[in-house]
Amino acid sequence: MLNDISTLVSLCKRRGFVFQGSELYGGIGACYDYGPLGVLLKNNIKSLWWHSMIQRPDIEGLDSAILMSSKVWEASGHVENFTDPLVDCRQCKTRFREDECKEPGKCPSCKSPDITDPRDFNLMFETHMGSSTDSSSQIFLRPETAQGIYINFLNVMQSTRQKLPFGIAQIGKAFRNEITARNFIFRMREFEQMEMQFFVTSDSSMEWFTYWLSERHKWYRDVFHLPVKPIDTPDDALAHYAKRATDIHFEFPFGLEEIEGVHHRGDFDLTRHGQHANKDVSVFVEELKQRVVPNVIETSCGVDRLFLAALVGFYREDELTAGEKRTYFAFPFELAPYPVTVFPLMKKEPLMDLTHQVVSALRDQGLFAQLDVSGSIGKRYRRADEIGTPLGITVDFDSLDDQMVTVRDRDTAEQIRVPIADLGPQKLRSIHQSFRK
Ligand code: ATP
Repeated sequence: MLNDISTLVSLCKRRGFVFQGSELYGGIGACYDYGPLGVLLKNNIKSLWWHSMIQRPDIEGLDSAILMSSKVWEASGHVENFTDPLVDCRQCKTRFREDECKEPGKCPSCKSPDITDPRDFNLMFETHMGSSTDSSSQIFLRPETAQGIYINFLNVMQSTRQKLPFGIAQIGKAFRNEITARNFIFRMREFEQMEMQFFVTSDSSMEWFTYWLSERHKWYRDVFHLPVKPIDTPDDALAHYAKRATDIHFEFPFGLEEIEGVHHRGDFDLTRHGQHANKDVSVFVEELKQRVVPNVIETSCGVDRLFLAALVGFYREDELTAGEKRTYFAFPFELAPYPVTVFPLMKKEPLMDLTHQVVSALRDQGLFAQLDVSGSIGKRYRRADEIGTPLGITVDFDSLDDQMVTVRDRDTAEQIRVPIADLGPQKLRSIHQSFRK
């Protein structure tokens, strides 16, 4: 339904989902700021993922530092290998990644064959810690959150008394100095990842890979309610340490693209940290009666790419009444920035007093209820629809007598009367469900 990402870019700015980073100064490439609605949606995405991971007894949480010893990145191979092939066009001066050339040997922008040979460009942002700027103080902004998990593996295991198999989940910022940045928040230079690393024995590792791939697929279907397509990486395209990899893709207006990777990383990460730090990273496995270096199954997804997938996947255009077009996001109840908006029919007492009581009661029960008092009721419905609010609650003059309100469904515009005393997260969630049947 959405053929062009520019529709979303302007809607995001107008309604306060996403702004261009440093816009006041003309903008900065591939950095974005999340506005008042964006931060609510983003937090809901993170919360859905976090709960699906952390509510399990075999997964622990972590929040490791962005800045780490540069030895971490030497051990992980990022200093040496985290590069993209950079090519310059001598004709139009465009800089691009070699794999972006649709016609090999030609600039993707002006089609000139006058382009440089590719050279390795390291994607890590580099800075210095402390006052000196020599190589001993060099550090990197992390390009992924995973390494913070690996270097804390023993700490987490010892402090929680977990045994294999178990996982560590983390949400946090990552930074990549991407050569070209386009497609809005799809490819950013500062972004957020949600990663879970699951530590297992080598014998059981393939089963766990299959298990996590299926779990993640189910999560998109049953919790996130978005269609995704897993695509296996062929053996000859795997990273040298990887045993298997499947990327989960989503259909964006600019094509089918990766939103998450599920990877079998073998024992590469822990072995390398063990070698570089000169520490024993093996653990005793009761059933095997021996010490082993765990294998890692990784699930790694980008918060911002999920955010964009949600905007694209739930974007709708329809005509509620003949000739009256509307656009809205059909977000599920748990994902919507606001699950409900409360409207007084008119901005007048004693309606306002009762409206404030309804809003406070909902907020006291932990529900983010938005209050909208200005404009005609029809306009206010459209405004709430446009930002994807599943339910509208209207307080009218009858409410003063019967202590009931009208609950309106975003997608169908159907309405029912509900006692104010019954309003709460559970009830509203089930009303939202009932409209879907
Ligand atoms: P791509 O091939 O698109 O560059 P990748 O294979 O390098 O992605 P990973 O290193 O596997 O990505 O990172 C895991 C996830 O982190 C990706 O699936 C994506 O959702 C997210 N991610 C990676 N790079 C970016 C970026 N520059 N901007 C936003 N999200 C990103």
